[in-house]
Amino acid sequence: MRTRPSKDIIVAIDGFSSCGKSTLAKALAKYLGYTYIDTGAMYRAVTLFFLQQKIKWQDVAEKAIADQLDKIVIEFKYNEEKKKSETYLNGENVEEEIRGKAVSDSVSEVSQIKTIRQRMVALQRRAGQNKGLVMDGRDIGTKVFPEAEVKVYMTADPEIRAQRRYDELKTKGQELSFEAVLQNLSKRDWHDTHREENPLIQAEDAIVLDNSSMNQKEQFEWVLEKIQKKLNQ
Ligand code: C5P
Repeated sequence: MRTRPSKDIIVAIDGFSSCGKSTLAKALAKYLGYTYIDTGAMYRAVTLFFLQQKIKWQDVAEKAIADQLDKIVIEFKYNEEKKKSETYLNGENVEEEIRGKAVSDSVSEVSQIKTIRQRMVALQRRAGQNKGLVMDGRDIGTKVFPEAEVKVYMTADPEIRAQRRYDELKTKGQELSFEAVLQNLSKRDWHDTHREENPLIQAEDAIVLDNSSMNQKEQFEWVLEKIQKKLNQ
């Protein structure tokens, strides 16, 4: 870790699923001494809650959705042993569960719901009000922090993304076929780019990072250089 820069800015990282957004965002936040917020984990935690409560989000009125959201508290707590931040839903550590298949299959549908997006965006804005933040998601540079000083739009070849995700799940002991992973990614990409409310689109002032053939170090250095330029302006 390095000393925190004298100026605090917001770094918004948006892009497709399994592009390596969170890996890059975490590394940048650690280096800069900034806070990191994984907004995907927030939508995943809401999805888990709806699945647990057997709420049929497709049939429920927005008001009933808002009532359910009032029952949800999402927190991030740092696990000293694992050296990483973990997601808590109503006081319970759900970090593993929100990354599983059930949540992954439904999250992009749940995150289309207007009331949910409005509530999450408000929480995310509050979390970033003091700046000094790296946040990753789909709408950070366009809707959550359109004033962010650095915006990165990440993309990579779908087959490469699916392979990375497949390898990651395999190391975690989750047995899924490559085709199932690719299918899940394509479905999420479609929902994320076609939804009415805050779809995934490239902000006009975002820098595009296609990491199909870049390793993590190369990506980190490439973005850090842009951040440092901004900090020195
Ligand atoms: O980033 P991650 O893949 O964990 O996000 C899970 C899902 O949450 C995405 O597929 C997307 O549908 C949704 N999401 C969103 N807006 C964000 C972050 C995530 O709609 N800012």
